Amino acid sequence: MYDLIIIGGGPAGVTAGIYGARQKIDTLLIAKEFGGQMARKAVAIENYPGFEEISGLELSRKFEKHLRKQKVAIERDSATGIKKIGSNFYITTSSKHKFSAKAVIVASGADPRPLEVPGEKEFIGRGVSYCAICDSPMFAGKEVAVVGGGNAGFEAAIALSNWAKKIYILEYSSKVGADEVNQELVKKTKKVQILTSAALKKIEGGKFVSSIIYQDRKSAKKITLPLEGVFVEIGNVPATGFVKDLVEFNEKDEIKIDPKTNMTKTPGLFVAGDVTDVRWKQIVVAAGEGCKAALSVYGYLRNSRQPAKQYE
Ligand SMILES: Cc1cc2nc3c(=O)[nH]c(=O)nc-3n(C[C@H](O)[C@H](O)[C@H](O)COP(=O)(O)OP(=O)(O)OC[C@H]3O[C@@H](n4cnc5c(N)ncnc54)[C@H](O)[C@@H]3O)c2cc1C
Repeated sequence: MYDLIIIGGGPAGVTAGIYGARQKIDTLLIAKEFGGQMARKAVAIENYPGFEEISGLELSRKFEKHLRKQKVAIERDSATGIKKIGSNFYITTSSKHKFSAKAVIVASGADPRPLEVPGEKEFIGRGVSYCAICDSPMFAGKEVAVVGGGNAGFEAAIALSNWAKKIYILEYSSKVGADEVNQELVKKTKKVQILTSAALKKIEGGKFVSSIIYQDRKSAKKITLPLEGVFVEIGNVPATGFVKDLVEFNEKDEIKIDPKTNMTKTPGLFVAGDVTDVRWKQIVVAAGEGCKAALSVYGYLRNSRQPAKQYE
């Protein structure tokens, strides 16, 4: 029986782990991998204080190294379910391990939002990717599409421009949403063609992707583009499947928390970072929320596991 189990190895989970250990809370952190969305970032991070410019992979490694210096047990696994029996929590994992704790912090973040068009699932790993930073080199000299004209889509196109011959950015609405800085960088690559009002309809191919069909929403014409890669950058969905029975959700399927303590409707179950209804989804915010959650757990445990209001 641990005092605390943290689920997730992104900025929220790692920060919760560091703060938990420093409060001498007996803590286990269960993580599929370290870094979370930071590790998928295609261009340098320039807004995490203390680092003027750092790659997502390097910042992820620094987070992991910092955590490993603390007295926190680490299990490389995925949580598949959480149950509360009496006042304790019981967690199962995909490797069929079972762990128990007096309190839990869920910091499972968000997964890439799927396109849900024919061909997407079939071609995952055979031309369809959700991570430009991981998969760009496989598209050296090829033509590819990035679906999504926000910052993530533009940053993916910038990363791909080091490898691909030509990149189409498909944006559903009539204007792209990326920041001016990213728009300038994309322009400089001279490899990117932006298609606005473009609704992706289908991904086609044999063994690998060979073309996409999109609809020009102005003319209603369906257009086939021969290309070999499709990078999906249309946002994220909170990763909540394993915890859904113990929490409440907002209209975006984010977990509702008490903003002061990060506690959910279930006493002892705390949540932090992008998986919550906190407004801004940023590394520094997720780290701050992880800190808040761990300090709230400290209060909860010290006050004989009374619900938040009784120890504020
Ligand atoms: C392309 C891109 C660019 C970005 N650029 C920036 C930027 O420049 N600056 C900035 O501040 N923010 C940026 N962000 C946002 C930032 O990365 C997130 O806000 C932050 O990573 C959220 O941290 P988190 O810990 O809440 O979740 P995540 O980073 O999503 O981490 C969650 C972790 O939990 C793990 N996990 C999920 N489910 C389970 C489970 N069942 N069991 C065990 N582990 C699980 C996941 O594998 C993951 O490692 C960017 C995001 C993306 C996608």
